[in-house]
Amino acid sequence: MINQDSFNKVIRIGRSPENDCCLLKEDDKQLVSRQHSVIYINGKDVSIEDLNSANGTYVNGFRIEKKVLHPKDTVRIANKYALNMKNIFGCIPGFNTDECDDYSLEFETLRNVWDRYETQKAKIIKKSQNKQQWGKTCLVSIPILGFIVIARIFKWNEWYFPFYIGLNTLLTSVAFFLIRDKKKSEQLKKLEIDFRKIYRCPRCGYQLRENWDLHHDQHNCPSCKAIWMKPVEPEF
Ligand SMILES: [Zn+2]
Repeated sequence: MINQDSFNKVIRIGRSPENDCCLLKEDDKQLVSRQHSVIYINGKDVSIEDLNSANGTYVNGFRIEKKVLHPKDTVRIANKYALNMKNIFGCIPGFNTDECDDYSLEFETLRNVWDRYETQKAKIIKKSQNKQQWGKTCLVSIPILGFIVIARIFKWNEWYFPFYIGLNTLLTSVAFFLIRDKKKSEQLKKLEIDFRKIYRCPRCGYQLRENWDLHHDQHNCPSCKAIWMKPVEPEF
């Protein structure tokens, strides 16, 4: 039996051929330093250290000097070449490499994102419908109300006629403004943009388009194959 705690390994990354992981791309070889970074595996602990490289080592989008790694981290050399965490953690004896693909917990949080989006969208639409209803009611009732008010209270007099027309025009404009409701489309647009930014595969950023349940039933990301929903263990 292999003792996991005594397992040690060093993975050197860089442009030089003597590295364990040699990143040499002719077109942009300047990006990767000769000795760029190094990964230490100590038992089950994995960490990465940048070796003062020119273009840096990035973990989850942040430039780091030294950092402990998690199977779900995204590591990019010079913020360009992504390292395969499954291969790195796969070196560790007894490590379950499925853990690298399991994004079910992260995916679960997207359910709230979807629900919130749907609720807010419905709210905006409902509010706008109410506004429009008011606008329409005003449009129908303004001329009648105006006439009644002037004729009854002020006793109709031909001098009131221009006043009546003026008041009607003003109130009709207000009613039209309510019906148009430009704010609604702006609010919906903003909501949609914010939502699209975060409603993505937690691993690769693949844009999700359908409702959450539908994606959940897909089990895996169609782009990076990350696990969104773990298969249910049969009970005996
Ligand atoms: Zn994905």
